[in-house]
Formats: sequence, structure tokens, C-alpha cells
Amino acid sequence: MQTIVIVGGGAGGLELATRLGDQIDRSSGAKIILIDRAPTHFWKPLLHEVASGKIDPKTHQVEYSAQAAEHHFQFICGEVVNVDRNSRVVELARRHDENGIEISPLRQVHYDKLVLAFGAVTNFFGIAGAAEHSFSLDTVFQAEHFQKRLINTCVQASDRKAGGTDPDAAVNIVIVGAGATGVELAAELRHTARALAKYRIHDLDPIRDIRIKLVERSDRLLPHLDARLSRTAEKYLGKLGIEACTSTSIAKVEIDRVEDDTGRVHPSDLTVWAAGIEGPKVSAILGLPLNRLGQIMVSGTLQTVGDANIFALGDCASFLCPAKGTPIPPRAQAAHQQALFLAKVLSEAAENPLPHFQYRDYGSLVSLGPSAAIGMLIGGAWGSGLFVDGALARILYRLMYRKHVLALHGFVAMAWQTVGHWVRGKVAPPVKLH
Ligand SMILES: Cc1cc2nc3c(=O)[nH]c(=O)nc-3n(C[C@H](O)[C@H](O)[C@H](O)COP(=O)(O)OP(=O)(O)OC[C@H]3O[C@@H](n4cnc5c(N)ncnc54)[C@H](O)[C@@H]3O)c2cc1C
Repeated sequence: MQTIVIVGGGAGGLELATRLGDQIDRSSGAKIILIDRAPTHFWKPLLHEVASGKIDPKTHQVEYSAQAAEHHFQFICGEVVNVDRNSRVVELARRHDENGIEISPLRQVHYDKLVLAFGAVTNFFGIAGAAEHSFSLDTVFQAEHFQKRLINTCVQASDRKAGGTDPDAAVNIVIVGAGATGVELAAELRHTARALAKYRIHDLDPIRDIRIKLVERSDRLLPHLDARLSRTAEKYLGKLGIEACTSTSIAKVEIDRVEDDTGRVHPSDLTVWAAGIEGPKVSAILGLPLNRLGQIMVSGTLQTVGDANIFALGDCASFLCPAKGTPIPPRAQAAHQQALFLAKVLSEAAENPLPHFQYRDYGSLVSLGPSAAIGMLIGGAWGSGLFVDGALARILYRLMYRKHVLALHGFVAMAWQTVGHWVRGKVAPPVKLH
């Protein structure tokens, strides 16, 4: 019996395990194993909404064990720390609970085919103090940690102001990197600042006293997207009172400030680093060729360069678009398309040669807070680009997540979950208040 092991149950890996489990297990008897270091899945593009307190991650998490039971694959909770390619085993670290008690010992899992889908981590580019003094949004834990610090920092400043010890008390938030994550987070944070004021969590002026600054090395916001999106985002964020510092490179991060390479100091109580990604450390010990960002090089078939039994997809992989010769962007859209491709390839009898993956860019959508979004649709009837904004862009943005839920659970469960979230949105405060 062939064993296919997938490491990482994120946007790409969980969809792949679900599809393979549904397609392969009953027909060919192959065994599908998904390994993730966490017991639950969370769709990463929603992390900025967790960080701003807009959504409670528990209402969007998927229990891997339940998904495995329903879709005929096996789930193992554990962190992969090594792959022995000669004996075809992945090695999992010991697992401990929050009290340090060992739950699982070191384990080995055999594979015939291995799919690496363990995503990427924040790239601090070696900037002094960045890793130590800034928040990143790679996991639910980090996003919730930021959300709590945001509220506590607002409360502290508000108390200092009310107590008269610091009449000019303010909260300075600096977001480094004005790609989609930075821009989306900035817009959500302005909404959160207002909502927290409305519920009297703090008595600060939500615009004057809660200062949000976006710092970007390039000369425009959303540098990897169409220039029209950049202009619209800049105007919209300006109306929200968010300061955009473009053509600015950060040289140093300290506990209460960031300093750019011209020596200008930007006060910062909360610094968020959203400036780029790199492959996680575990990629380096596989002995496979990596690109300069530490992502695993894959060929047109998504097989790793150097080991045909190992495939890689999503953010941990570097797939060069044959037409342009450039890597495809680290996006959920790409991870989804690669999961679809591998589900087909791996569930069919061995084909030689394997087909080649073709990436289709359908465009980009960027959320600008709870009631606004912008985007550029590409391909099909839209040709090289159709700009969208307003309600249409907002609906399309929301549909991206619903499409992911649909792929995991089917239409009926997706519809019920959508209704559940809608009802919750009507009865709960618009943001978490603690
Ligand atoms: C705040 C934010 C907003 C974003 N917004 C968008 C957007 O609007 N549109 C878009 O297309 N993309 C967006 N992205 C990017 C998108 O989230 C990623 O491209 C996508 O999640 C990549 O999917 P993946 O399957 O490669 O990895 P991930 O979804 O990151 O999943 C990786 C999985 O691997 C697991 N894992 C990691 N290391 C190990 C290990 N050693 N052992 C076992 N398990 C491991 C993790 O727990 C995780 O479950 C956003 C990202 C962020 C952070």
C-alpha cells in the first residue's frame, strides 16, 4: 500500500489531504497521512482580522481530527523536524503540553510520496532588533498576542491621560511593509480603535491619539500589485488618518521606536513586521536546493529539484512561472491551485512523465476594513485587468474564504457556517473587547 504523507495542513495542505482522502482511499487503498504541529487549521489570510480583534479564531478553526475522520485520511499532530530521504521517513519532535509533560515521544513516519506544505515565516531581513521587538502574523497565537497587547496598550495610555500623569498620552503603531497584509491590517486597526472607544475600553481619540503609520521601502503602497490599487489604497487610508511613509527603509527596531536608514526616528509602542516571508528553518535541513529566500525549488511538476518522491506546494515552495521566469507569489490562490493539481496527479495511477502545473493569476483583492475593498480581476472576460471596488469588491473578497470552506466541507456546511457567522456578527460586538 502506498503512503502519501502531507506535512502542513494550511491553505494548500489541508485541501490536498481532504481531496486525496475523498478520491484515493476508497479506490486504490493508498494511505493518506496529514501531519501538522497544531491540532486545528486556520486560514491564514484571516490573521489580520484576528490581530485587530474583528474575528474570534475559534469560530473559524477546523479540527484536523474531525476533518480526517470525515474525509478518510489520518491526522498526526506533531512538528516535523527532519526528513531522512534515504529511508523515506519524516521525524517528529517530542510533543509536550503547556505544563511541560510529554504527550508524544520522538516519532518517525514512513512515506512513499511526501508533500511539503509547511508554509513560510516572517522574514526580518536581519534588521537589528526586528525579530525581538516586533510582532509578526504567522500564527493564530501571534495574532491573538498582538490583539491583547493592542487593547492593554490603549488602556494604559488612556489611564495615564485620565490620571493627568501624561496629558498627551497616545498609542503609536508602526506597520513595516505595505503589501496586502500591512495595508489590510492598518485599515482594520483604525476600525478597532474606533470600536474600542465606542465601548469605552479607552477614552483616547481613536484617530488623533491612536496613530497608525505604514512604512514601505518601495515608492508606493501595495508595490506588487497594479498601480491603480496603490493609488486608491493610499487615498482611502489617508481618509482613515493612516500615515503612509513610502521610500523608507527601516534600519533598526527598538522597544519603543523604529529608526529608518536616514536616521529618522518613528516612535512605536507596537511594531508589526509585515515586510516579507522566507522558508522556515526546517527547509534547510532537507538537503534540497533552496532559493535565496529559503524556499524549496520545485520543477514544473511540483517535484522538488533533487528528489522526485518529494513534492512541495504553497509558500514553502519556489515555482518559477515558465512564461515569465519569475516565482509565483506566496498567496492562498497559488496554494489552492497547486493543491488541486497534486490531488489529481497523486490520485491517478503513476503517469510518466507527470503533467506540468500551470498557474493562473485571477487577480488580487485587498480588504480596506469592514466596509471597503478594492481589487483587480484578471483573465477570462476581464482581460488584462478590471478594477473593482465598493460592494462588489467586498463580496468577492469575502467569497475567497467561503471558497476555501466549500473545498473543505462542501456546500451545505459552508452555507450553515456562513449563516452562523452572519448571526454572530449581528449579536456580538464588532471587535473583541478584551
Ligand atoms: C495576515 C495575512 C494575510 C494574507 N492575505 C492573503 C490574501 O488576502 N490573499 C491571498 O491569496 N493570500 C494571503 N495571504 C497569504 C496566504 O495566507 C498564504 O499564501 C497561504 O496561507 C499559504 O498556504 P500554505 O498551505 O503554503 O501554508 P500555510 O497556510 O501557512 O500553512 C502551513 C501549515 O504548516 C504547518 N507547519 C508549519 N511548520 C510545520 C512543521 N515543521 N511541522 C508540521 N507542521 C508545520 C502550520 O501549522 C500550518 O498549518 C495572507 C497571509 C497573511 C499572514
